[in-house]
Amino acid sequence: MEIKKLARKCVQNITPYLPGKPIEELKRELKIKKVYKLASNENSLGPSPLAIAAIKRELGNVNRYPDGNSFYLRRALAKKLKLYPENLIIGNGSDELIVLALKAFINPGDEVIIAEPTFLIYKLAAVLAEAKVRSVPLRAFRYDLEAMKEQITSKTKLIFIANPDNPTGSYVSALEIENFLKAVPKNVLVFIDEAYYEYVEARDYPQSLKYLNKGNIIVSRTFSKAYGLSGLRIGWAAAAKEIIYYLNQAREPFNVNRLAQVGAEAALADKRHVLRSRAMVSAGRKYICGELKKQNLIFVPSVANFVLFNAGEKGVQIFSELLHRGIIVREMSGWGLKNFIRVTIGTSGENKLFIKNLKKILQKRKEIHR
Ligand SMILES: *Cc1c(COP(=O)(O)O)cnc(C)c1O
Repeated sequence: MEIKKLARKCVQNITPYLPGKPIEELKRELKIKKVYKLASNENSLGPSPLAIAAIKRELGNVNRYPDGNSFYLRRALAKKLKLYPENLIIGNGSDELIVLALKAFINPGDEVIIAEPTFLIYKLAAVLAEAKVRSVPLRAFRYDLEAMKEQITSKTKLIFIANPDNPTGSYVSALEIENFLKAVPKNVLVFIDEAYYEYVEARDYPQSLKYLNKGNIIVSRTFSKAYGLSGLRIGWAAAAKEIIYYLNQAREPFNVNRLAQVGAEAALADKRHVLRSRAMVSAGRKYICGELKKQNLIFVPSVANFVLFNAGEKGVQIFSELLHRGIIVREMSGWGLKNFIRVTIGTSGENKLFIKNLKKILQKRKEIHR
Protein backbone atom coordinates (compact mmCIF):
# COMPACT_ATOMS: atom_id res chain seq x y z
CA MET A 1 0.00 0.00 0.00
CA GLU A 2 1.54 3.34 -1.12
CA ILE A 3 -0.12 5.41 1.62
CA LYS A 4 1.79 3.44 4.24
CA LYS A 5 5.01 4.71 2.69
CA LEU A 6 3.72 8.26 3.03
CA ALA A 7 2.97 8.02 6.76
CA ARG A 8 5.76 9.11 9.13
CA LYS A 9 7.69 6.25 10.73
CA CYS A 10 6.70 7.40 14.20
CA VAL A 11 3.02 7.40 13.18
CA GLN A 12 3.33 3.85 11.89
CA ASN A 13 4.82 2.85 15.25
CA ILE A 14 1.91 4.09 17.37
CA THR A 15 -0.22 1.56 19.24
CA PRO A 16 -3.73 3.03 19.06
CA TYR A 17 -5.22 4.30 22.33
CA LEU A 18 -8.22 2.22 23.42
CA PRO A 19 -10.67 4.46 25.27
CA GLY A 20 -13.29 3.17 27.71
CA LYS A 21 -16.32 2.00 25.75
CA PRO A 22 -18.80 4.86 25.25
CA ILE A 23 -22.27 4.32 26.81
CA GLU A 24 -23.98 4.95 23.45
CA GLU A 25 -21.92 2.24 21.75
CA LEU A 26 -22.81 -0.47 24.26
CA LYS A 27 -26.50 0.52 24.08
CA ARG A 28 -26.37 0.07 20.31
CA GLU A 29 -24.58 -3.27 20.54
CA LEU A 30 -26.69 -4.86 23.28
CA LYS A 31 -29.95 -3.07 22.43
CA ILE A 32 -30.43 -2.25 26.11
CA LYS A 33 -31.64 0.98 27.65
CA LYS A 34 -29.64 1.26 30.84
CA VAL A 35 -25.86 1.25 30.76
CA TYR A 36 -23.49 2.18 33.59
CA LYS A 37 -20.04 3.49 32.74
CA LEU A 38 -17.35 3.06 35.36
CA ALA A 39 -14.50 2.97 32.87
CA SER A 40 -12.98 6.42 32.36
CA ASN A 41 -12.77 7.96 35.83
CA GLU A 42 -15.47 10.50 35.01
CA ASN A 43 -17.62 12.15 37.68
CA SER A 44 -20.91 10.26 38.11
CA LEU A 45 -22.46 13.26 39.88
CA GLY A 46 -22.42 15.10 36.55
CA PRO A 47 -21.23 18.62 35.84
CA SER A 48 -21.68 21.45 38.31
CA PRO A 49 -25.13 23.08 37.88
CA LEU A 50 -23.34 26.44 37.80
CA ALA A 51 -21.28 25.23 34.84
CA ILE A 52 -24.41 24.09 32.99
CA ALA A 53 -26.02 27.49 33.52
CA ALA A 54 -22.91 29.34 32.31
CA ILE A 55 -22.67 27.15 29.21
CA LYS A 56 -26.33 27.79 28.37
CA ARG A 57 -25.77 31.53 28.64
CA GLU A 58 -22.79 31.28 26.28
CA LEU A 59 -24.49 29.18 23.58
CA GLY A 60 -25.64 32.17 21.52
CA ASN A 61 -22.04 33.38 21.14
CA VAL A 62 -20.62 30.34 19.41
CA ASN A 63 -20.63 32.11 16.04
CA ARG A 64 -17.55 33.97 17.40
CA TYR A 65 -14.09 32.51 17.93
CA PRO A 66 -13.15 31.97 21.56
CA ASP A 67 -10.61 34.08 23.45
CA GLY A 68 -7.37 32.37 22.48
CA ASN A 69 -5.75 33.41 25.75
CA SER A 70 -8.59 32.20 28.02
CA PHE A 71 -8.17 35.51 29.89
CA TYR A 72 -10.99 35.17 32.43
CA LEU A 73 -10.30 31.56 33.31
CA ARG A 74 -6.58 32.19 33.76
CA ARG A 75 -7.38 35.22 35.93
CA ALA A 76 -9.74 33.16 38.11
CA LEU A 77 -7.23 30.32 38.42
CA ALA A 78 -4.35 32.69 39.18
CA LYS A 79 -6.36 34.23 42.00
CA LYS A 80 -7.30 30.87 43.46
CA LEU A 81 -3.78 29.43 43.20
CA LYS A 82 -1.94 32.64 44.16
CA LEU A 83 0.01 32.67 40.88
CA TYR A 84 0.22 35.15 38.01
CA PRO A 85 -1.90 34.54 34.88
CA GLU A 86 1.46 34.39 33.05
CA ASN A 87 2.19 31.20 34.99
CA LEU A 88 -0.83 29.48 33.44
CA ILE A 89 -1.82 27.91 30.15
CA ILE A 90 -5.21 26.38 29.34
CA GLY A 91 -5.41 23.25 27.19
CA ASN A 92 -8.01 21.29 25.27
CA GLY A 93 -7.94 18.78 28.09
CA SER A 94 -4.70 18.26 30.00
CA ASP A 95 -3.91 15.75 27.24
CA GLU A 96 -3.14 18.72 25.03
CA LEU A 97 -0.71 20.13 27.59
CA ILE A 98 1.20 16.85 27.56
CA VAL A 99 1.40 17.07 23.77
CA LEU A 100 2.43 20.76 23.93
CA ALA A 101 5.27 20.05 26.37
CA LEU A 102 6.70 17.57 23.87
CA LYS A 103 6.05 19.83 20.85
CA ALA A 104 7.70 22.79 22.51
CA PHE A 105 10.76 21.09 23.98
CA ILE A 106 11.58 17.86 22.16
CA ASN A 107 13.85 17.56 19.15
CA PRO A 108 13.89 14.13 17.48
CA GLY A 109 16.12 11.80 19.50
CA ASP A 110 15.82 13.68 22.80
CA GLU A 111 15.08 11.39 25.71
CA VAL A 112 11.89 11.26 27.75
CA ILE A 113 11.53 9.18 30.92
CA ILE A 114 8.17 7.50 31.46
CA ALA A 115 6.99 4.92 34.02
CA GLU A 116 5.57 1.63 32.79
CA PRO A 117 2.67 1.11 33.01
CA THR A 118 1.19 4.57 33.53
CA PHE A 119 -1.13 7.00 31.72
CA LEU A 120 -0.83 5.96 28.06
CA ILE A 121 -0.85 9.43 26.53
CA TYR A 122 2.73 10.20 27.65
CA LYS A 123 4.24 7.48 25.52
CA LEU A 124 1.87 7.97 22.62
CA ALA A 125 2.68 11.68 22.43
CA ALA A 126 6.41 11.09 22.98
CA VAL A 127 6.56 8.61 20.10
CA LEU A 128 4.78 11.12 17.84
CA ALA A 129 7.34 13.76 18.83
CA GLU A 130 10.11 11.33 17.80
CA ALA A 131 11.52 11.26 21.32
CA LYS A 132 13.46 8.29 22.59
CA VAL A 133 11.43 6.82 25.44
CA ARG A 134 13.17 5.35 28.48
CA SER A 135 10.63 3.20 30.32
CA VAL A 136 10.94 2.56 34.04
CA PRO A 137 8.85 -0.25 35.56
CA LEU A 138 6.65 0.51 38.56
CA ARG A 139 7.69 -1.12 41.81
CA ALA A 140 4.87 -2.73 43.78
CA PHE A 141 2.42 -0.65 41.68
CA ARG A 142 4.13 2.64 42.62
CA TYR A 143 6.36 5.05 40.71
CA ASP A 144 10.01 4.14 41.35
CA LEU A 145 11.53 7.63 41.40
CA GLU A 146 14.95 6.28 42.39
CA ALA A 147 15.06 4.13 39.26
CA MET A 148 13.73 7.01 37.13
CA LYS A 149 16.54 9.19 38.43
CA GLU A 150 19.06 6.57 37.30
CA GLN A 151 17.76 6.87 33.72
CA ILE A 152 18.66 10.55 33.38
CA THR A 153 21.38 11.12 30.77
CA SER A 154 22.79 14.17 29.01
CA LYS A 155 20.05 13.69 26.40
CA THR A 156 17.13 13.70 28.85
CA LYS A 157 14.69 16.58 28.29
CA LEU A 158 11.46 15.63 29.99
CA ILE A 159 10.21 13.32 32.76
CA PHE A 160 6.52 12.52 33.28
CA ILE A 161 5.10 11.83 36.73
CA ALA A 162 1.41 11.03 37.17
CA ASN A 163 0.57 11.84 40.78
CA PRO A 164 -1.73 10.15 41.65
CA ASP A 165 -0.92 7.57 39.03
CA ASN A 166 -3.44 6.12 36.59
CA PRO A 167 -4.18 3.14 36.36
CA THR A 168 -2.81 2.19 39.80
CA GLY A 169 -4.25 4.99 41.96
CA SER A 170 -1.03 5.11 43.99
CA TYR A 171 0.86 8.35 44.72
CA VAL A 172 4.34 9.61 45.51
CA SER A 173 4.84 11.55 48.73
CA ALA A 174 6.10 15.10 49.23
CA LEU A 175 9.38 13.74 50.58
CA GLU A 176 9.87 11.42 47.60
CA ILE A 177 9.17 14.24 45.12
CA GLU A 178 11.44 16.66 46.94
CA ASN A 179 14.36 14.25 46.96
CA PHE A 180 13.74 13.49 43.31
CA LEU A 181 13.58 17.15 42.25
CA LYS A 182 16.82 17.86 44.10
CA ALA A 183 18.57 15.27 41.96
CA VAL A 184 17.13 16.36 38.58
CA PRO A 185 19.40 18.73 36.62
CA LYS A 186 17.93 22.18 35.87
CA ASN A 187 17.92 21.52 32.14
CA VAL A 188 15.53 18.59 32.50
CA LEU A 189 11.83 19.40 32.72
CA VAL A 190 9.59 17.49 35.14
CA PHE A 191 5.94 17.29 34.14
CA ILE A 192 3.77 16.48 37.18
CA ASP A 193 0.28 15.42 36.10
CA GLU A 194 -2.22 15.91 38.92
CA ALA A 195 -5.45 14.97 37.16
CA TYR A 196 -6.87 13.49 40.40
CA TYR A 197 -5.54 16.18 42.77
CA GLU A 198 -8.96 17.08 44.20
CA TYR A 199 -9.61 13.52 45.38
CA VAL A 200 -6.40 12.97 47.34
CA GLU A 201 -6.79 12.92 51.12
CA ALA A 202 -3.31 11.61 52.04
CA ARG A 203 -1.47 14.04 54.32
CA ASP A 204 1.94 13.46 52.79
CA TYR A 205 0.72 14.22 49.25
CA PRO A 206 2.89 17.05 47.84
CA GLN A 207 1.69 20.60 47.20
CA SER A 208 3.71 20.69 44.02
CA LEU A 209 2.85 24.26 42.95
CA LYS A 210 5.34 25.44 45.52
CA TYR A 211 8.15 23.87 43.44
CA LEU A 212 7.41 26.07 40.40
CA ASN A 213 10.16 28.51 41.38
CA LYS A 214 12.71 25.76 40.74
CA GLY A 215 12.15 26.77 37.13
CA ASN A 216 11.97 23.33 35.49
CA ILE A 217 8.61 22.06 36.76
CA ILE A 218 5.27 21.88 34.93
CA VAL A 219 2.18 20.97 36.97
CA SER A 220 -1.04 20.07 35.16
CA ARG A 221 -4.59 19.58 36.42
CA THR A 222 -7.89 19.10 34.68
CA PHE A 223 -11.60 19.89 34.72
CA SER A 224 -12.30 16.35 33.42
CA LYS A 225 -12.31 14.49 36.71
CA ALA A 226 -13.56 16.03 39.98
CA TYR A 227 -15.06 19.01 38.10
CA GLY A 228 -17.11 16.68 35.89
CA LEU A 229 -16.37 18.31 32.53
CA SER A 230 -14.65 15.50 30.57
CA GLY A 231 -16.83 16.10 27.52
CA LEU A 232 -15.83 19.76 27.23
CA ARG A 233 -12.09 19.01 27.06
CA ILE A 234 -10.35 21.53 29.30
CA GLY A 235 -7.37 21.44 31.65
CA TRP A 236 -4.52 23.73 32.72
CA ALA A 237 -0.83 23.74 33.46
CA ALA A 238 1.22 25.98 35.73
CA ALA A 239 4.94 26.66 35.30
CA ALA A 240 7.56 29.41 35.30
CA LYS A 241 6.62 32.23 32.87
CA GLU A 242 9.35 31.26 30.44
CA ILE A 243 8.10 27.69 30.16
CA ILE A 244 4.53 28.93 29.62
CA TYR A 245 5.84 31.25 26.87
CA TYR A 246 7.21 28.32 24.88
CA LEU A 247 4.17 26.14 25.48
CA ASN A 248 2.11 28.99 24.00
CA GLN A 249 4.43 29.16 20.99
CA ALA A 250 3.51 25.53 20.22
CA ARG A 251 -0.23 26.00 20.92
CA GLU A 252 -2.92 26.52 18.30
CA PRO A 253 -4.47 29.99 18.58
CA PHE A 254 -8.02 28.83 19.41
CA ASN A 255 -7.34 25.57 21.24
CA VAL A 256 -10.03 25.91 23.94
CA ASN A 257 -13.63 26.53 22.91
CA ARG A 258 -16.00 29.11 24.42
CA LEU A 259 -18.28 26.66 26.22
CA ALA A 260 -15.30 24.98 27.89
CA GLN A 261 -13.88 28.32 29.06
CA VAL A 262 -17.09 29.58 30.68
CA GLY A 263 -18.04 26.13 31.99
CA ALA A 264 -14.67 25.69 33.67
CA GLU A 265 -14.74 29.16 35.22
CA ALA A 266 -18.18 28.49 36.71
CA ALA A 267 -17.18 25.00 37.89
CA LEU A 268 -14.11 26.44 39.59
CA ALA A 269 -16.34 28.70 41.67
CA ASP A 270 -18.66 25.84 42.67
CA LYS A 271 -16.90 24.62 45.81
CA ARG A 272 -19.96 22.70 46.93
CA HIS A 273 -19.96 20.48 43.86
CA VAL A 274 -16.30 19.54 44.30
CA LEU A 275 -16.87 18.79 47.99
CA ARG A 276 -19.84 16.56 47.17
CA SER A 277 -17.81 14.75 44.52
CA ARG A 278 -14.96 14.23 46.95
CA ALA A 279 -17.28 12.88 49.64
CA MET A 280 -18.92 10.52 47.14
CA VAL A 281 -15.56 9.15 46.03
CA SER A 282 -14.17 8.84 49.53
CA ALA A 283 -17.16 6.78 50.76
CA GLY A 284 -17.43 4.78 47.53
CA ARG A 285 -13.75 3.86 47.53
CA LYS A 286 -14.01 2.48 51.08
CA TYR A 287 -17.10 0.49 50.14
CA ILE A 288 -15.66 -1.00 46.94
CA CYS A 289 -12.29 -1.87 48.54
CA GLY A 290 -14.10 -3.48 51.49
CA GLU A 291 -16.19 -5.62 49.15
CA LEU A 292 -13.20 -6.62 46.98
CA LYS A 293 -11.45 -7.73 50.15
CA LYS A 294 -14.45 -9.88 51.12
CA GLN A 295 -14.15 -11.58 47.72
CA ASN A 296 -10.43 -12.19 48.34
CA LEU A 297 -9.55 -10.04 45.34
CA ILE A 298 -6.26 -8.19 45.48
CA PHE A 299 -6.42 -4.44 44.82
CA VAL A 300 -4.00 -1.51 44.85
CA PRO A 301 -4.76 1.05 47.60
CA SER A 302 -5.98 4.14 45.73
CA VAL A 303 -6.14 7.86 46.52
CA ALA A 304 -8.05 8.61 43.30
CA ASN A 305 -11.58 7.93 42.02
CA PHE A 306 -10.84 4.43 40.72
CA VAL A 307 -9.50 1.11 41.96
CA LEU A 308 -7.25 -1.35 40.14
CA PHE A 309 -7.81 -4.98 41.13
CA ASN A 310 -6.75 -8.43 40.04
CA ALA A 311 -9.86 -10.28 38.88
CA GLY A 312 -8.09 -13.64 38.79
CA GLU A 313 -7.33 -15.98 35.92
CA LYS A 314 -10.54 -15.16 34.12
CA GLY A 315 -10.24 -11.39 34.36
CA VAL A 316 -11.01 -10.78 30.70
CA GLN A 317 -14.16 -12.93 30.82
CA ILE A 318 -15.33 -11.20 33.99
CA PHE A 319 -14.90 -7.91 32.19
CA SER A 320 -17.04 -9.06 29.25
CA GLU A 321 -19.70 -10.58 31.51
CA LEU A 322 -19.98 -7.24 33.28
CA LEU A 323 -20.28 -5.60 29.86
CA HIS A 324 -23.17 -7.90 28.94
CA ARG A 325 -24.88 -6.86 32.14
CA GLY A 326 -24.58 -3.23 31.03
CA ILE A 327 -21.64 -2.30 33.26
CA ILE A 328 -18.57 -0.87 31.53
CA VAL A 329 -15.28 -1.09 33.41
CA ARG A 330 -11.75 -1.09 32.03
CA GLU A 331 -9.91 -4.29 31.19
CA MET A 332 -6.20 -3.63 31.63
CA SER A 333 -4.33 -6.08 29.38
CA GLY A 334 -3.52 -3.15 27.08
CA TRP A 335 -1.38 -1.81 29.95
CA GLY A 336 0.39 -5.14 30.38
CA LEU A 337 -1.79 -5.84 33.43
CA LYS A 338 -3.36 -9.12 32.40
CA ASN A 339 -6.50 -10.06 34.37
CA PHE A 340 -6.60 -6.66 36.04
CA ILE A 341 -9.71 -4.50 35.99
CA ARG A 342 -9.89 -0.80 36.78
CA VAL A 343 -13.23 0.37 38.09
CA THR A 344 -14.23 4.01 38.52
CA ILE A 345 -15.91 4.96 41.81
CA GLY A 346 -19.43 6.07 40.92
CA THR A 347 -22.54 7.01 42.88
CA SER A 348 -23.40 4.71 45.77
CA GLY A 349 -26.09 3.09 43.57
CA GLU A 350 -23.63 2.42 40.77
CA ASN A 351 -21.03 1.02 43.17
CA LYS A 352 -23.57 -1.37 44.69
CA LEU A 353 -24.73 -2.50 41.27
CA PHE A 354 -21.15 -3.16 40.21
CA ILE A 355 -20.41 -5.20 43.36
CA LYS A 356 -23.71 -7.11 43.13
CA ASN A 357 -22.99 -8.15 39.54
CA LEU A 358 -19.33 -8.92 40.20
CA LYS A 359 -20.35 -11.21 43.09
CA LYS A 360 -22.92 -12.98 40.90
CA ILE A 361 -20.33 -13.59 38.17
CA LEU A 362 -17.75 -14.89 40.67
CA GLN A 363 -20.37 -17.11 42.35
CA LYS A 364 -21.43 -18.62 39.03
CA ARG A 365 -17.80 -19.43 38.22
CA LYS A 366 -17.33 -21.19 41.57
CA GLU A 367 -20.41 -23.32 40.92
CA ILE A 368 -19.17 -24.30 37.45
CA HIS A 369 -15.81 -25.37 38.87
CA ARG A 370 -17.26 -27.41 41.70
C1 LIG B 1 -7.83 11.50 33.00
C2 LIG B 1 -6.41 11.86 33.04
C3 LIG B 1 -5.97 13.06 32.49
C4 LIG B 1 -6.97 14.05 32.00
O1 LIG B 1 -7.06 14.17 30.70
P1 LIG B 1 -7.92 15.36 30.09
O2 LIG B 1 -7.29 15.50 28.76
O3 LIG B 1 -7.73 16.57 30.95
O4 LIG B 1 -9.32 14.89 30.06
C5 LIG B 1 -4.63 13.39 32.57
N1 LIG B 1 -3.77 12.58 33.19
C6 LIG B 1 -4.16 11.44 33.77
C7 LIG B 1 -3.17 10.61 34.50
C8 LIG B 1 -5.49 11.04 33.69
O5 LIG B 1 -5.87 9.90 34.23
